[in-house]
Amino acid sequence: MADYDRACADLNWDDFRDWLDYLPSGGLNIAFEAVDRHVAHGRGDHEAIRWLGKSGETRSYSYADLKRETDRFARFLSDLGHGPGVRVFSLLGRVPELYFAALGTLKAGGVFCPLFSAFGPEPVRSRMTIGKADVLVARARDYAKKVAPWRAQMPDLKHVLITESPDESGADTIALAAALARTPAQFELVETRAEDMALLHFTSGTTGKPKGAIHVHEAVVAHNATGRIALDLRPGDIYWCTADPGWVTGTSYGIIAPLTNGVTMLVDEAEFDARRWYETLERERVTVWYTAPTAIRLLMKSGAEIAKAHDLSRLRFLASVGEPLNPEAVVWSQKLFGRPFHDNWWQTETGGIMIANYASMDVKPGSMGKPLPAVEAAIVEENGDSVRVLDTANAPGHLALRPGWPSMFRGYLDEEKRYAACFKGGWYLSGDLAMRDEDGYFWFVGRADDVIKSAGHLIGPFEVESALIEHPAVAEAAVIGIPDERAGEIVKGYVTLHQGFQSSPQLNKELLGHVRSRLGAAIAPRLMEIVDDLPRTRSGKIMRRLLKARELGLPEGDISTLEKPA
Ligand code: ATP
Ligand code: MG
Repeated sequence: MADYDRACADLNWDDFRDWLDYLPSGGLNIAFEAVDRHVAHGRGDHEAIRWLGKSGETRSYSYADLKRETDRFARFLSDLGHGPGVRVFSLLGRVPELYFAALGTLKAGGVFCPLFSAFGPEPVRSRMTIGKADVLVARARDYAKKVAPWRAQMPDLKHVLITESPDESGADTIALAAALARTPAQFELVETRAEDMALLHFTSGTTGKPKGAIHVHEAVVAHNATGRIALDLRPGDIYWCTADPGWVTGTSYGIIAPLTNGVTMLVDEAEFDARRWYETLERERVTVWYTAPTAIRLLMKSGAEIAKAHDLSRLRFLASVGEPLNPEAVVWSQKLFGRPFHDNWWQTETGGIMIANYASMDVKPGSMGKPLPAVEAAIVEENGDSVRVLDTANAPGHLALRPGWPSMFRGYLDEEKRYAACFKGGWYLSGDLAMRDEDGYFWFVGRADDVIKSAGHLIGPFEVESALIEHPAVAEAAVIGIPDERAGEIVKGYVTLHQGFQSSPQLNKELLGHVRSRLGAAIAPRLMEIVDDLPRTRSGKIMRRLLKARELGLPEGDISTLEKPA
């Protein structure tokens, strides 16, 4: 593998463009690269999707099956009168229809926009309105509860396709299964071009109102290459991405990257459950596993005993995204699986992985790795209208990327100014702060909005949280700054505890002492609160801004993506 990585190190995006097939006309279509070309190359019989239903039912779809079902969905859209540009929204869990709809929409030249199925009526309404949805695919009860009440105010919404419903269509809905059963699986793929809009993804809303990021078909160049390089995907793999389809990971790496790389992707309909997850890893012989720090912390919380009862020796590559991965989690996985978790960094806006610990690298626990081949990343300082690249090692600054990678967002829907504000002096500014060490590894410091300034020190919450998590009692931690007359801000920490530990004033004091001895008094929290749970987004990110708003009695802002509205 090391040789392979070395061979990739000097490659650029044009090389990665050559890894794809393209349409006969020279156009580019994500679904063609993900599905049809494998059939054309004689791999139609290879298993593409292995679906595990909530209640134990399983279904398997080969690449040829997937071609047929996506052709059928595309044909159905076209029979309904929808052409290229049609905007198809989904409000679905991980069910087979989701994959047919996503890829079928792309074949029809449409734009696919997945929403979290657990969203309430208002987040659904606002996103569908901003996104000008033409078609919605949803479960009957979600439609009835979340969409039907305001449907009359959405004249753009022409068709609602219902899954899990009886065969009969309603007055204003179409039963999808019955309709597809009547539709021939014949469709001439729309000759999309690389710059045609393909996906609309709303950000997680961790720092404020979610933004609708626009992605085009060219993104598949990056999905494919980063799947191979950063996730180590190879055609014989059984790959499991646990991300919810409602955010970008669920599409880029939960649909596109695995399929373009021709692997078998496992789709588990059920929500997180430690026992089920370990059973699944073992029984399905998962080789590559892509998950998120929240899930990893929950597994850690569930204890080593359950894990040890399973044979997980098939796992070859473990990766994590979404939040900084605490060093403690990397050490834990090394101990338990004999392999480290490989952290990688990217955003809705970047469309694909930009910085990663790839297979051949030595993992430095706590670091997000190095920029992928062809990705130019830097730590910069804003300087009026321009930026200055910081060459000094370990100096915190803005994490910036040189624009031009294929999966770069092409805009925020209807928010041109906000889009323009992301670019300065020839760089894209990510909104995250990071450092680069002398070996070229990048280290996450914090989101620009979350960084704390205390008595002249710049404090990244991640460092303090990671120190807290090293304490045996602590399962999760979040740290915020609260205004202080003398210091500007002081640090307050919130922690949840592992099973078997009780909240007490003593433990509270012990935790404060633990971080002080690890990090020094200047950085350590002055205040600590032991809580039952931390507020997080549906994509699993801790919402520090909400802790802060609650602490200071300020308005909570946009909490449409909050997992458990208080
Ligand atoms: P919003 O932009 O609406 O506030 P969000 O930034 O959480 O929400 P996403 O695009 O889903 O929306 O998340 C990307 C962000 O997640 C990154 O900018 C970064 O802050 C964080 N992130 C993702 N992966 C990592 C990682 N490996 N290490 C540290 N942070 C990460
Ligand atoms: Mg963001």
